Order: sequence, then C-alpha cells, then structure tokens
Amino acid sequence: MDEVFSDIYRIQLPLPRNPLRAINSYVVRGADRCLMIDTGMNRPECIEVMRTSLRELAIDLDRTDCFITHSHSDHVGLVSELKTRSSKIFLHSADAAIILHPNLWADMAAAARTYGFPDPDVAVEKHPGRRYLFDGEPEFTSLREGDTVSVGRYLFQCVETPGHTPGHMCLYEPDARILFSGDHILDSITPNISGWGPAPDPLGDFLASLEKVAAYEIRLTFPGHRNPIPDHRRRIEELEEHHRVRTEEIVNILARNEQTAYQVASQMTWDISYTCWDDFPVPQKWFATGEALAHLLHLERAGKAMRSWRDGGVYFAL
Ligand SMILES: [Zn+2]
Ligand SMILES: [Zn+2]
Repeated sequence: MDEVFSDIYRIQLPLPRNPLRAINSYVVRGADRCLMIDTGMNRPECIEVMRTSLRELAIDLDRTDCFITHSHSDHVGLVSELKTRSSKIFLHSADAAIILHPNLWADMAAAARTYGFPDPDVAVEKHPGRRYLFDGEPEFTSLREGDTVSVGRYLFQCVETPGHTPGHMCLYEPDARILFSGDHILDSITPNISGWGPAPDPLGDFLASLEKVAAYEIRLTFPGHRNPIPDHRRRIEELEEHHRVRTEEIVNILARNEQTAYQVASQMTWDISYTCWDDFPVPQKWFATGEALAHLLHLERAGKAMRSWRDGGVYFAL
C-alpha cells in the first residue's frame, strides 16, 4: 500500500495465476467520508490484503463509498464483502444491467457456441468473471457522464468511456488533473477489448473513448493494473498503434479462408508463455477469442469483412 497522491492510497491486490498479476484499488480519504475506487476479486487472497490495508489506513467502511469503473470481477468482485448499510456502490447502469442479468452465463455459452468455441459449456464454467464475482445481488447506484463525486479536497467528474465494457467509466479531477482510468488506459499491458458483450462495435467505441480522454488535461493517470501513467497521450497513441497492427494481422489471417472468431484467435500472435494454442488455459482462450471477435465486428461494421451462418455458427470472410 502506498500514498500515490495527496490523501490517495493504492492497495495492490494479488491475482494469483493471472497474467494481470494484481489489481489496484484506490482509497481517497476525506474528513467525513472516503471513496474506494475498484475492489478486487472475490477470492481469499484479495480479501486478506484488502482487510489488512483498510485496518492500517484506519478506514471505516460505514463511511466509505465505492466507485466501480466497470463490471469485471477483478474490479467489482468484493463489493458484497465491503458494502455496509450506510455506504453506496456506484456503477454505470449499462454495466450493472450486464452483471445482474439472469441469463448472463447462458448467453455467454450461446455466444461461445456461435463464434466457434468447440466446447462452450466447459468454457463458460471456467470463465474467470464467473468464478470470482460477488456473492448475492448487491444494489448499485447509477452514475453517468458529468455526474460528480465529492470526497475530501477532491471533486471528481464521471467520464463515460465505453469500449472495454459498455458502461466503463473513468473519474477525472480537474483541479488536481488526475484520472482514475480503470481498464480504459493501462501501461505496459493493453486493455482487452472483447466482442463477447452486447455492444455491436466495442473496438469502435474504445477507439472513440481513447480520443475523448486524449483531449483531457491530465498530469497523472491511475490505472486499474500496474503503475501510474505520466503521459496519457503517448500511451493512447501506443494503444491505437497496437490495434492498427492487430487489424492488419487479422486481415492477413482472414485472407486465407473464411473462419470463426475462435479460429482467427488461434492463429494470432499472443504475448503469453504458451507455445501453442491448444496449451492456452480456457480463460486465455476467452480473452483471445473476444479480442479477435471485437476486431472482426469492427471490420464488418466498416464494410471490410462479412459474416455467413453455417451449422449454427458464424464465419467471417473478407
Ligand atoms: Zn476489465
Ligand atoms: Zn481489470
């Protein structure tokens, strides 16, 4: 745990056997109330570090609200553990609708089948978002673009940044010129942009949200994983370049023949320590196929790829 800015503390919660390694939870201390930004996964390793850190910081959960940047289990997983009767959990309504939807996992299995997973039921069972999600049905308070959250010396503005998820939000403080970026902008790793969700073109949304945030004056960006980012515009350019290279790679793969998103993902290059696709753990196949799908949907929307249905599955071609 370290003080990363005046009255703002970062708690790094471990994510064992996960390439992300850790998730950053931030606590903003105010005289009356505190604000926690993102919470960690619902697993013992995260709970233990969270409890110890809150004790060291002398944080009273009855006087602490949570702002959740988006609905992934590493960010929202501990809300049931941390919520008290006098605290609020803020989350954009688009992401609350996804995560509380009764058919979420059945729909995921259906999508896995449609886009080429050979064994969709096994795949959905091993989805990390399912395994480490909160218990019960927590009540979320919705925030949206332009809403403000006041805590201590800071007045944060909500910035909608759809792409990584449809309801992803960042928090911006205009006087301090700091941004909490969730998984919208990360340093040294690229945010996973996935086609599994309900958005028709998540990559298009993400690129538009990068442009949006590039216009903000930001001294320091605090991401959901890894270290603070001093130059958000340089990092945004790198992320845009990453997706340009990815698009090229996918077009070259599709030029061979028509394929499912799963087949395309199996031929892409991944920065991961497994030598062949068959060795990828199922969670990594989810992320990889989701990213391939996001690119295919983006190409389709731009008129550069088309889909056809065969045996209940979708195939993409140039
Ligand atoms: Zn995420
Ligand atoms: Zn994350």
